[in-house]
Amino acid sequence: MPLTTTSLLLIGGAAGVALALAALALRRSAHAASESQRVAAILAVARRYALGDLSRPAPDYGDDQLGSVARGMDQAVQELGRRVDSLARDRARMEAILSSMIEGVLVVDEQGRLQLVNDAARRILKLEQDAIDRPYVEAIRHPGIVDNIGRVLAGGDTSALELSVTRDTTRTLVAQVAPVVTAGRGAVLVMHDITELRKADLIRRDFVANVSHELRTPLTAIKGYAEALLDDPDDADARERFVKIIHRQAERMERLVKDLLRLARIEAGQETVEVAPCDITALVRGIAADFEPTAAAKQQTIGFTVAPDAATLQTDAAKLHDIIRNLVENAVNYTPEGGGIDIHATVAGERFQLSVADTGHGIAPDDLGRVFERFYRVDKSRTRPGGTGLGLSIVKHLVQVLEGEVVVENQAAGGALFTISLPLR
Ligand code: ADP
Repeated sequence: MPLTTTSLLLIGGAAGVALALAALALRRSAHAASESQRVAAILAVARRYALGDLSRPAPDYGDDQLGSVARGMDQAVQELGRRVDSLARDRARMEAILSSMIEGVLVVDEQGRLQLVNDAARRILKLEQDAIDRPYVEAIRHPGIVDNIGRVLAGGDTSALELSVTRDTTRTLVAQVAPVVTAGRGAVLVMHDITELRKADLIRRDFVANVSHELRTPLTAIKGYAEALLDDPDDADARERFVKIIHRQAERMERLVKDLLRLARIEAGQETVEVAPCDITALVRGIAADFEPTAAAKQQTIGFTVAPDAATLQTDAAKLHDIIRNLVENAVNYTPEGGGIDIHATVAGERFQLSVADTGHGIAPDDLGRVFERFYRVDKSRTRPGGTGLGLSIVKHLVQVLEGEVVVENQAAGGALFTISLPLR
């Protein structure tokens, strides 16, 4: 059948309509496919977020309604993620602070359950690892603390509790409970170890007792002899003797006060260090000469040697002088008649070393570690005339000021050996 113009037109029209329909159908199915892909992509992101992976980049959500909703949700999740992150960082910081604290910290919630226990509290109260969330009355075995927490939870007040909670009774702790008001009511317990404070207090009290004792002895003598003088002012012989005793005792008191002030100054960090080249030979020679008369009276000899590399030292000469002088004075005093004192300066490794050795009786092993303590004397009867019991304590502190060390030992042949070592500047 021949094709007429009309039929051609009809076919063309139908094809056109069909094409248009096909294109429309094609466009619809393409749109449906891309939308379901986008939904799948959004779901994938949601799943990733649900698993805690908030990493970007997010897919291109598109500009339609679905895209806007997805983008909005995405931003909300990202923001929440940032907040959770910052909270986690805060928490980690807080945990780091709490676990590095020497004070024990423990928090109980309104229901009386343990919410937070730092390492120190766990150690002090010997709490089990699973103590969190347990009632404090079950977890804590110290009745005083349990009482105080109960009182605070009930809205009452408590005062600080002094206790020794560990099996180590030498340690003293102070426990304080205070209310916490956050979402509900709770209690926080803080425990401080005040053992060192107590020790310092004991040392201070001992020190005051020692000073009082040391001052009272010469004071009693001065008072007694002054009264004797007043009772019998005409006895010329006694007068001279008594006045000499009074003078000697007053000097002793003066020395004690001077030593105490020196020690206080050093301990308060008020001694300035003036470093300059110091002629060690001249310094040692001068000290040996100072003690020569005392030593000669006891038939003692004082010898010294200074190694060539130790002849000069960058240090505070006045302080080094006081250190050596104290050591030599002790050596002369505690060495019996006919003995010898030997001073030796050298350089060992990176340190300047100076030793003072004597031929006395040395120091009993039990006392070796204690002679540098204030007022510590091996001879308990404290008979050494003129001694304050502070000399070696001053030596130790001065050596520390010069960034050095001082040690004492007994020589194999008998006699004490004090050695100071100072940095070579
Ligand atoms: P003191 O004023 O009593 O000498 P120190 O602090 O200088 O006080 O010395 C403390 C104690 O150490 C002395 O009392 C003495 O018992 C002992 N000591 C110090 N040096 C010597 C030494 N060279 N030999 C034996 N004992 C010593």
